[in-house]
Amino acid sequence: MQNITIAIDGFSSTGKSTLAKQIAKELGYVYVDTGAMYRAVTLYALQNNFINENSFKVNDFVLELDKINLSFKFNEALGFSEMYLNDVNVEKEIRTLEVSSYVSKVSAVPEVRYQLVKQQQKMGEGKGIVMDGRDIGTVVFPQAELKIFMTASPKIRAQRRYDELIKRGDKVNFDEVLQNVQERDYIDSHREDSPLIKAQDAIEIDNTNLTLEEQFESIMNLVRMTLENQE
Ligand code: C5P
Repeated sequence: MQNITIAIDGFSSTGKSTLAKQIAKELGYVYVDTGAMYRAVTLYALQNNFINENSFKVNDFVLELDKINLSFKFNEALGFSEMYLNDVNVEKEIRTLEVSSYVSKVSAVPEVRYQLVKQQQKMGEGKGIVMDGRDIGTVVFPQAELKIFMTASPKIRAQRRYDELIKRGDKVNFDEVLQNVQERDYIDSHREDSPLIKAQDAIEIDNTNLTLEEQFESIMNLVRMTLENQE
């Protein structure tokens, strides 16, 4: 059977990664979490004092981009790939609310996007890939055979992210998580370079009232139909 490219875009905390991982596992495809790449670049900007509450030294930061080496390494025990920044596993550090609160500003920088999109396109050259993010169906793989656009109500999404952070032991309150989700949605949808929009040929899934199993089943039906159409 021919391999295809599956692009999953959508708002923050819509469960894109969970779904993408499930599909990749089912099909034996590679899964790439592009949000993790933008988060790792943001972590670098924070660690090296290019960005803080009051300022963002964009020009200096852009000059350092070639010092950032991103890679994914498959963790057998967990069953998915983890993000490495300059050969250090940063999987935990990139998921904090602090990184979440800066990532949309860093991701709006065209030079950052240019670098990461190039790497993502290279990863997908051989197809057989499920990639999730904000611009996968519009910019990274406009020719993807299957494009999904995920939405859910902001409150449900914030609740999911809040539960995740609490489970990890982070001290956060619900209102700040909700505010972060809404702020990121706004910046991601309004930036000039590659804003978050639904590709014309993407299929929209609102999972506010869907269980993970229902969602997985309906998407797998779309995957099967797409694969059949390739033959
Ligand atoms: O997917 P996740 O919520 O981890 O993404 C974190 C942030 O990275 C997003 O809010 C967005 O600002 C940025 N991002 C992006 N383009 C992508 C993936 C993520 O701009 N393809």
